[in-house]
Amino acid sequence: MSLEDNLRYDISRLGLPTDFDIDLRDYSKTYNGRYDPNRELVILYTKNRLRMKISYHRLLKACVHETIHHYQWKHDEKFVRIKGTMHNQEFKALEKKYLNRLNWRCEGESLFAV
Ligand SMILES: [Zn+2]
Repeated sequence: MSLEDNLRYDISRLGLPTDFDIDLRDYSKTYNGRYDPNRELVILYTKNRLRMKISYHRLLKACVHETIHHYQWKHDEKFVRIKGTMHNQEFKALEKKYLNRLNWRCEGESLFAV
């Protein structure tokens, strides 16, 4: 499985939607990841500021974070974007809920079991 397929698989196992595109990029000084609602695109950076490859579980955590942005934009009818507020209370609650579902166990290629 490619890295992208692995992320997608793990995101779906968490019970989150996977109807977005993933763009795996090299590195960013500022971001772990970003979400572009116009293109329904999750952008993830695979290297840190020192340009060292980040671990799969950190990448997956960043992917969960960006997927929740996608979820709020595209799947939550009640979601209202407040200018200047990227992460509302519901975002924080959702992120906590899904990150808590990760159980960091090494299972071959996949680093957790839901
Ligand atoms: Zn965010």
